[in-house]
Amino acid sequence: MNLYEYQAKRLFAEYGIPIPNGDVARTPEEAHAVAEQLGGRVVVKSQVHTGGRGKAGGVKLADDPADAQAKAKDILGLDIKGHITRIVLIDEIAPGGIEQEIYLAILIDRAAKKPMIMASYEGGMDIEEVAATQPDKIFRVWIDPSLGLRGYHATYIASGMGLPKNLWKEFNSLLKNLYTCFIGSDASLCEINPLVITGEGHLMALDGKVSIDDSALSRQPKLAEMEDKSIIPPSELKAAEAGVSFIKLDGNIGCMVNGAGLAMTTMDIIKLFGGEPANFLDIGGGASAEKVTAALEIILSDPNVEAVLINIFGGITRGDDVARGIVAALDKIDTDVPIILRLAGTNYQEGLAILSKANLPTAETLSEAAKKAIEAAKNN
Ligand code: GDP
Ligand code: MN
Repeated sequence: MNLYEYQAKRLFAEYGIPIPNGDVARTPEEAHAVAEQLGGRVVVKSQVHTGGRGKAGGVKLADDPADAQAKAKDILGLDIKGHITRIVLIDEIAPGGIEQEIYLAILIDRAAKKPMIMASYEGGMDIEEVAATQPDKIFRVWIDPSLGLRGYHATYIASGMGLPKNLWKEFNSLLKNLYTCFIGSDASLCEINPLVITGEGHLMALDGKVSIDDSALSRQPKLAEMEDKSIIPPSELKAAEAGVSFIKLDGNIGCMVNGAGLAMTTMDIIKLFGGEPANFLDIGGGASAEKVTAALEIILSDPNVEAVLINIFGGITRGDDVARGIVAALDKIDTDVPIILRLAGTNYQEGLAILSKANLPTAETLSEAAKKAIEAAKNN
């Protein structure tokens, strides 16, 4: 789960990281009011879950409240890489201006299985280009989670990137606070770009990006509450409610599978025979009529779907129970989309018998099922 910039910065502030004063607005009039309260020049910033807002016209400076209102009017509704702006953040401009833009992030390095700190003195909007063309300008240090962040980590980064020495102490405590925030929030990413040296000679976070590990949201109720449910696609909301894992893809063959590994295999086999899966869907353990119905409704709500492949492996779940669930679900759903079924595992023969009695097309092997689904999609 990703936080908006304004949420990320408020979280940083709770951990003692300096951020500009500011507040959000959902209308140009609200933007006017916020700017008035802040007084002086402000920056108006699109709040969307994507980067590169600056380059897309989603970050604009304003001289006074009337200007802030006008800039907010421009930015509200702005489409940035498919994300429509519904909220803007109005922040005071950095006190004394910006002397230097620094990149600073803590993230999980999955390969090293450790948190990693990444920093560069060449921060700002071109950090991707810096990473690609001047990789030596990016400094990395890995943290042993049992030891935590140490002073020498901060010194290594500060000296490596050439931070003026008078700011090392400030940087050290800021990095410590960011690490505490990262661990305390179960984050997979805490990024500040830019972390600036202000004209007054202090560090300040002008941007913030925080991703929270979804699996930890149950113990992070305060952060979980921050999720903007209005932007989640209805199919994903429905999947979460039904307790199935669902990820939409671009192909035309809907997949319903029990088990993440089997779902991956099913997608691989579809691709192997020249098809394109329309989704990843894992209904998890069991295959009750309710779950199968919800899953099928989610799959069929995608207009690209031209055939559905249901691939169920009976382990503790028995094949005949699964088959009854599928038959009951298909009784309730009215669709012209061809559905191919494959059952394996415990009591699969009994299950297949139930399915053929209900006149449902079945396949013996996964390869056969995939080929049939691809063929059915072509003819549909
Ligand atoms: P991003 O492009 O989505 O990463 O958005 P940022 O929040 O990083 O803003 C992009 C750029 O706008 C920054 O790199 C800064 O150069 C500039 N910017 C952001 N906030 C301020 C501010 O308070 N004052 C000034 N002068 N520039 C700002
Ligand atoms: Mn940024």
